Amino acid sequence: MTRVPRIQLNDGHSIPQLGFGVFKVDPAETERIVTDALEVGYRHIDTARIYGNEEGVGRAIAASGIPREELFITTKLWNDDQGATTTPGAFDRSLERLGLDYVDLYLIHWPTPANDRYVETWNTFVELRETGRVRSIGVSNFLAHHLERLVDESDVPPAVDQIELHPYHQQPATAAFAEQHEIKIEAWGPLGQGKYPLFELPEVTSAASAHGASPAQVVLRWHLQRGHIVIPKSNRRERMVENLDVFDFELNDDEMAAITGLEREGRVGTHPDEFN
Ligand code: NDP
Repeated sequence: MTRVPRIQLNDGHSIPQLGFGVFKVDPAETERIVTDALEVGYRHIDTARIYGNEEGVGRAIAASGIPREELFITTKLWNDDQGATTTPGAFDRSLERLGLDYVDLYLIHWPTPANDRYVETWNTFVELRETGRVRSIGVSNFLAHHLERLVDESDVPPAVDQIELHPYHQQPATAAFAEQHEIKIEAWGPLGQGKYPLFELPEVTSAASAHGASPAQVVLRWHLQRGHIVIPKSNRRERMVENLDVFDFELNDDEMAAITGLEREGRVGTHPDEFN
């Protein structure tokens, strides 16, 4: 079984650096797909209320027989549940759908700045953490200026910021702020969601040939060597295996620099300041 390194978080917990994402995984197929992912060796699963597939994730976990402490499960609070009065109930319902007593990581899915409730929601996350039903708390799609407000207005910094990050969109300002405050970066869309021709670029294909790896493995390796947590998604078992098999080669400095040089603010998702 592949040994995935763990990344130390600022709250004393740790997270497997590579996990499995289930965005756009059909709820009707989620149990089977997550079962495959657990069978091939993933122990870290990333879901969200808005994906509509927490139940399927929960059923796969229950059927797997894997001891709970060997798993790392993340879910996220959807935007319309933000706020001190609505967040606790939304959290309870996510736990119920997952069939779990606790989640390892709970994230505010988007800052939705027009609603201006993310600081209040964060304070509620801190209280939820105190109940022990969530081990670590973090945010998602927070840019440096959103993180800055949390750091200024709360004593508890997020453990993680899960942001869109791939070679075409590296978010250097947010990553630098996060590093300064010991907030770990988790890359969503680590493969660019297949929307960019990342796998055909010479910077990627030449490293792939040199290491006898696939282009997707090279991109994932780039993330890991940059220190990102990554959660690639695939419905296909052979790609799940491929995406996990990235711990027996290393990109050299030139290969890393060539891929880093691909940055072009090529965002695939919505701008976090405009997503409300
Ligand atoms: P990814 O970058 O992981 O790309 C997924 C796409 O790449 C799918 O089309 C998949 O196709 C394809 N793919 C996967 N592996 C390979 C491979 N080895 N070779 C070729 N193609 C491959 O995008 P996601 O958006 O899924 O991001 C990963 C996870 O991040 C999500 O599942 C979710 O958990 C999280 N996320 C969080 C967001 C947030 O706002 N916080 C937003 C978006 C995602 P196929 O399935 O057919 O193999």
